[in-house]
Amino acid sequence: MDNVELRPAAAGQRANIRVLADNGWPRALTTSLGNGTVYIGRQAVTQGYNTVRIAAHELGHILGLPDRKPGPCSSLMSGSSAGVPCTNPYPNAAEKAEVEDNFGAALAHPAATAPREVMIVD
Ligand SMILES: [Zn+2]
Repeated sequence: MDNVELRPAAAGQRANIRVLADNGWPRALTTSLGNGTVYIGRQAVTQGYNTVRIAAHELGHILGLPDRKPGPCSSLMSGSSAGVPCTNPYPNAAEKAEVEDNFGAALAHPAATAPREVMIVD
């Protein structure tokens, strides 16, 4: 990744992304590209879905990726449609490139990152 990097917030610094656990279905609330809250819903965990894949998928939403369902396990954004046995937590090459493009466009045109609150469930 060249245009975006995930790293821990420094002491005293407000994080761009918050990760919470609750009893609902996994979802992401994005406030703008790269900013928002990921909810690791226990409902999917209880059903057996892989926690690392859930977290990676929801982070994908924060990084501007939409759901791509139904889809294969090789696609991170196929989410739950790939089934409980799918534990792949990695984006495929197209998904990686899309995140690069999202942040490249945001760097080139900062107005495109204007706050826009969107809740994506699943
Ligand atoms: Zn999703």
